[in-house]
Amino acid sequence: MSSTFSLDPGADQLAVRDWLHGFAADVIRPAAAEWDEREETPWPVIQEAAKLGIYSLDFYAQQYFDPSGVGIPIAMEELFWGDAGIGLSIVGTTLAAVAVLANGTDEQIGTWTPQMFGTPDDVKVAAFCSSEPDAGSDVSALRTRAVYDQAKDEWVLNGTKTWATNGGIAAVHVVVATVDAELGARGHASFVVPPGTPGLSQGQKFKKHGIRASHTAEVVLDDVRVPGSCLLGGKEKLDERLARAREGVRKSGKGNAAMATFEASRPAVGAQAIGIARAAYEVALDYARTREQFGRPIIDNQGVAFQLADMKTRIDAARLLVWRASWMAANNQPFTAAEGSMSKLYAGETAKWVTAQAMQILGGNGFTREYPVERMHRDSAIYSIFEGTSEIQRLVIARAISGMPIR
Ligand SMILES: Cc1cc2nc3c(=O)[nH]c(=O)nc-3n(C[C@H](O)[C@H](O)[C@H](O)COP(=O)(O)OP(=O)(O)OC[C@H]3O[C@@H](n4cnc5c(N)ncnc54)[C@H](O)[C@@H]3O)c2cc1C
Repeated sequence: MSSTFSLDPGADQLAVRDWLHGFAADVIRPAAAEWDEREETPWPVIQEAAKLGIYSLDFYAQQYFDPSGVGIPIAMEELFWGDAGIGLSIVGTTLAAVAVLANGTDEQIGTWTPQMFGTPDDVKVAAFCSSEPDAGSDVSALRTRAVYDQAKDEWVLNGTKTWATNGGIAAVHVVVATVDAELGARGHASFVVPPGTPGLSQGQKFKKHGIRASHTAEVVLDDVRVPGSCLLGGKEKLDERLARAREGVRKSGKGNAAMATFEASRPAVGAQAIGIARAAYEVALDYARTREQFGRPIIDNQGVAFQLADMKTRIDAARLLVWRASWMAANNQPFTAAEGSMSKLYAGETAKWVTAQAMQILGGNGFTREYPVERMHRDSAIYSIFEGTSEIQRLVIARAISGMPIR
């Protein structure tokens, strides 16, 4: 690792953190219980974020290019400290935006990313649709087909996507489909489905255990026709890639490039989990100081105090892993031990553990919806599932450190 390694966010980034914390405390947290109960997208909160510039591509680009390298995790931690369901409703669009930024041409980026966010007066969301009923951890198994209709220069998409955040309510959907099933993951391509395209519909909306303000649904694609220009990266690039794959040629470093993309994005998800963990820890610490039993605050018992000490230690350790991986991504350091996956694994498991401890410290109150920790515990559970389950993170880390094709 470079000798210039530093995790100092700098004064500018700390000012952004404080500004976001204010929004999380004043707008997100007070709305959290209501939207969790309603299990609906919190449009008014997204709109409020848009008015302040927090819900916009510019905002995320600024955090991404922050010289400290930790702009994105700081932003994620603060928003998700407010509430994870609302937080995901605010940042879910970036999944689709990142897919366009990573694979699209400049023209595609310029056309589609503004439509994903809409305007503060007319906010929109976007969805990234990769997972399918039979293709979760094993993305190479996806069945959604994209067939090129040369006469019309159109792609025809057919299939069923599942678990899509904002699926069906999005203005723009980005859909991953196979153009050559025999090539497995190397035969995949990503397509933009523009607003109002016939044939795309929402399937069932899932009723979830946590992050209930965030909309998750199936997306059905029935002869969905999109213009040739909606293939991200363009046809020429796709044809070249498919030809190389058919010849069995692997572009040098290709595997590493794909892995590096995941390694760079996973710390942001880890930071969301840390936001939840920190929120629950703070509630528990406050409760332990003020709740009295046997004539003294419960924090006077080592059993409770040590629990809080472990919670704080694990949260800080998780943040250091997340910030290290973000710094590595910003400084183009190789992820030789899958440090991005490591950070997401540890932060996700930490959030589940810390929120469970917080419920215990609150006793009966922790088990009720009068206090936020049971919601935080429910929300934390997704962090060992989406964006690669904890088992898949371990698989990636094990492969990286062993150099073996561990299956
Ligand atoms: C709320 C929510 C939002 C989501 N948002 C999106 C989204 O916006 N877009 C999108 O495309 N997807 C999204 N997903 C999908 C998510 O990424 C998948 O659920 C996840 O990848 C796991 O896939 P699966 O659910 O099919 O589980 P499976 O892959 O069936 O896994 C089941 C269990 O088996 C384990 N397992 C599988 N393979 C292995 C192995 N090789 N070794 C060890 N253990 C293994 C897993 O770790 C897991 O514990 C979302 C999911 C949820 C629940």
